[in-house]
Amino acid sequence: MTGTIGSTVLGYPRIGPNRELKRALEKYWSAETDEADLRDVARKLRVDSWHALHNAGLDSVPGNTFSYYDQVLDTAVTVGAVPHRYRELGLNPLDTYFAMARGVESTPPLEMTKWFDTNYHYLVPEIGPDTAFSLSDRTAVEQFRESAELGITTRPVLVGPLTFLLLSKPDDDAPDGFRPLDRIDDLVDVYAALLAELRRAGAEWVQLDEPAFAADRTQAELDALRETYRQLGGLSERPKLLVAGYFGDLGDALKILISSPVDGVAVDLVTDPATVGALPTLTGLLDKTLVAGLVDGRNIWRTDLDKALATAAKLLGSAGELAVGTSCSLLHVPYDVEPEDIDPQVKSWLAFATQKVREVVTLGRALREGRDAVATDLAVARAAITDRATADRVRDSDVRSRVAALRPENSRRAEYPVRRDAQAAALALPPLPTTTIGSFPQTTDVRKARAQLRRGSIDEATYRRRMREEIERVIRLQEDLGLDVLVHGEPERGDMVQYFSEYLEGFASTHHGWVQSYGSRCVRPPILFGDVSRPEPMTVDWTTYAQGLTSKPVKGMLTGPVTILAWSFVRDDQPLGDTAQQVALAIRDEVRDLEAAGIRVVQVDEPALRELLPLRAARQQEYLDWAVESFRLATSGVTDGTQIHTHLCYSEFGDVIDAIVALDADVTSIEAARSRMEVLRDLSDVGYAKGIGPGVYDIHSPRVPESSEITELLRAALEAVPAERLWVNPDCGLKTRGYTEVGHALRNMLAATTRARATL
Ligand code: GLN
Ligand code: ZN
Repeated sequence: MTGTIGSTVLGYPRIGPNRELKRALEKYWSAETDEADLRDVARKLRVDSWHALHNAGLDSVPGNTFSYYDQVLDTAVTVGAVPHRYRELGLNPLDTYFAMARGVESTPPLEMTKWFDTNYHYLVPEIGPDTAFSLSDRTAVEQFRESAELGITTRPVLVGPLTFLLLSKPDDDAPDGFRPLDRIDDLVDVYAALLAELRRAGAEWVQLDEPAFAADRTQAELDALRETYRQLGGLSERPKLLVAGYFGDLGDALKILISSPVDGVAVDLVTDPATVGALPTLTGLLDKTLVAGLVDGRNIWRTDLDKALATAAKLLGSAGELAVGTSCSLLHVPYDVEPEDIDPQVKSWLAFATQKVREVVTLGRALREGRDAVATDLAVARAAITDRATADRVRDSDVRSRVAALRPENSRRAEYPVRRDAQAAALALPPLPTTTIGSFPQTTDVRKARAQLRRGSIDEATYRRRMREEIERVIRLQEDLGLDVLVHGEPERGDMVQYFSEYLEGFASTHHGWVQSYGSRCVRPPILFGDVSRPEPMTVDWTTYAQGLTSKPVKGMLTGPVTILAWSFVRDDQPLGDTAQQVALAIRDEVRDLEAAGIRVVQVDEPALRELLPLRAARQQEYLDWAVESFRLATSGVTDGTQIHTHLCYSEFGDVIDAIVALDADVTSIEAARSRMEVLRDLSDVGYAKGIGPGVYDIHSPRVPESSEITELLRAALEAVPAERLWVNPDCGLKTRGYTEVGHALRNMLAATTRARATL
């Protein structure tokens, strides 16, 4: 099958089925092992993946999908974009790489941000007019050879040059107006050199990922795409080029790629089924390979193989070669559903990376040899799809009638001045009220108790006693410090979504379903498979216990519906907005129960509000409408005197600023320390006139802020916001910090507040 792709996946997980890479990295970082040990583990993981993919029957196995930390960082190192401050450290190449990823004492790491609309984070390259691009690392070539020695001709995957530059930021030396994309010509030369080396090593195909074109792009950016692939396609010494665009529709970029001299294009037909209609009209496709992304690379549901084949049938004859693939890399799903002890019925509806590879192989064979060749696989898939569509546990008629009976007034509260006055009377807070975002340091004892309960080595009563001791300690600390609105500290939560999913109907959880978030960090997203409801209170006991220890108000602490969806694998059989409504009703029940139990302040966190924002502007409003509505539904079931807080985890809101206003929370706490309170003006500009708690110190760093710095920030904040509306709090929860630093930092925060109050 030379020259064709047949069946393939666009990428594969690399952390290891048992998180082997995580462990190896952490041992290396703590100097328990050396570089050779780490490299051994990495090599074994690569070899195992290649064998697994090859033996499963994929016609084309992706290569270079391994990374010690992040594929964007790998690309930066490959093309020589290592900022001076890391070169100057004088470390060996691997440690220079880790310094960029994690920082060293003297030098902070590169900035990290979300990879499109996924939960994966990449490191942001810094590019300036003087960045000396050159082919500086040949890992892609070495790994190609490594696979070839095993008899597997892999298809090296590289971040495409345009996506690389579009995800980069200008370095500190760049003049105003400089854009990393200005450097595309120089970068193309490096890619050309790399492609030539890969060709000489024997690579037949190379995959260049250009997901940046699934978002809105300017004409200049589209022109750069055309020019870049004209140049790369025109090289005399190169492998065949497959350009992959995923996470949405490629829009105008699709035509550009198809009329360029590349050899193949991979499209995401899961996120954007409408592309299927456009493809047959593009005649340039007749001499190219089309990799139809029919298997969802980022969610965990079994593929409807009949439907996928029907889609493929519409494309037959439109392309030189019609190949089958995943919609995107499988990096975003766990390895294997087999070892999970999920309820067998739900389990039969799931496909993790291993199962998805098989689905791709099955589809490929069906296209080539006919459906009969894979009749059994098709029948098994069909049975599971039908079972899921008709299963009782997916639809709960009580939930459905509750949703159907909703009226607009269910998500509206009284006018803000009415609420404000009722809350002022109920809470009697001083000006510049102080609070925290919810979690306190998670000590080893707390983590140990949670793990022991999970393993069954302590009983429920012992566990409760230990948590209560921790809650009491947190309450006493806050009273000593003199905070005004207290929290219970969240010791019972390992994760702010997982915790709730374990109480809610409609969710399943996995034991091994880890997905890389960044570097060695993994998350285990719960699986939302059916209608959601809340059979019993989830937080009321802990919160009322805390409230019983103090006369100060204790703030109830919940996770909002959008964040619960964003950090779970969510059912794909109904619109996300419908699922959000059900989750909102469950949270609403909890908010009301907290109120009924005497809790006067409730915070509903939505740190992920911006994460689900569609990549294309045209689709954003619809999302924001249901996202806002679900928050309001969750929080509007209380009386005027109950104060609703929300917390958002970022300071550059841009696209979501109006939505933040529309949430209609009484108090919004938001990250601001690093941006020096700029967010306050942005919010005032769009008419935000309720309580606001701009974080006055950055909890992401162990550094304890001086009270004078906090005073400075409060002074700046008071220029933008009147004292009646200004709250004083850290940037985010304190769970990753230690008690000593937290004690000092909060003490300084309170000293600064006392000083600021004196000037009012
Ligand atoms: N209440 C949560 C905490 O304090 C909020 C976490 C977050 O914003 N990501 O940990
Ligand atoms: Zn936060």
